[in-house]
Amino acid sequence: MSDFVHFTFHQDFNVFLDKTNRNKTYQYLFEENSTVKDSIEVQGVPHTEVEWVLVNKQSVNFSYRLQNEDNVEVFPYHAKLQIPCIVRPPLSSLDFMVDFNVRKITKYLRMLGFRTVTDEGVPDEEIAAIAERENKIVLTRDIGLLKRKNVTYGYFLRSEEVEKQIVEIVKRYNLLPQIAPFSICLTCNGGIERVAKENILEELPILIREEYDEFFQCNACQKVYWKGSHFDNMRKVIDTLQEQN
Ligand SMILES: [Zn+2]
Repeated sequence: MSDFVHFTFHQDFNVFLDKTNRNKTYQYLFEENSTVKDSIEVQGVPHTEVEWVLVNKQSVNFSYRLQNEDNVEVFPYHAKLQIPCIVRPPLSSLDFMVDFNVRKITKYLRMLGFRTVTDEGVPDEEIAAIAERENKIVLTRDIGLLKRKNVTYGYFLRSEEVEKQIVEIVKRYNLLPQIAPFSICLTCNGGIERVAKENILEELPILIREEYDEFFQCNACQKVYWKGSHFDNMRKVIDTLQEQN
């Protein structure tokens, strides 16, 4: 007789699961020596989406080996649950790596003050290696990339619309209290600081020179910023996020 466990995926996993396994507890046949991580990923859910795994009501690691008739419950991140996550080490910093398929979010994340790089279309293998080496959070719509062993931190963007994607990221990583407009250069990811108008006067278009008094400059590429239309757009994004919170 084959061994089986009872499996339940709670909350927000439906996008990955077979329709027949959504929102319910079901029997899952497993091969001898399967880890709980393998059994989760075989069913479509990348390990990066999982925050807690309970087996018979006890929190376990991904390396746990399934036993006959175990009761397995899988949970995604949930802001209101303050249970320690033991399936991966805590994040030490918020450093994003944006996959090519969602590259438009790069500018928005920088606008909000988060260091973000885009992969520029390099192979998955390389993205995973960079993410591992530099402790980056991978943001993507590629489930296969998130299933890679060396991608520890990552998130699958549910929406295909940039603005909705930003809202998802802000919620998932609780970014709202850390938003810092005009701290990251939109072009090169460098740091931005206030700069005196007289120091950059030469670089300003004549109309800007007359209309604005407050300026910022990137300390890496020297690009100058002022609170023009891009600032208004960003303000709108932030306001929407705050309203939804
Ligand atoms: Zn720059």
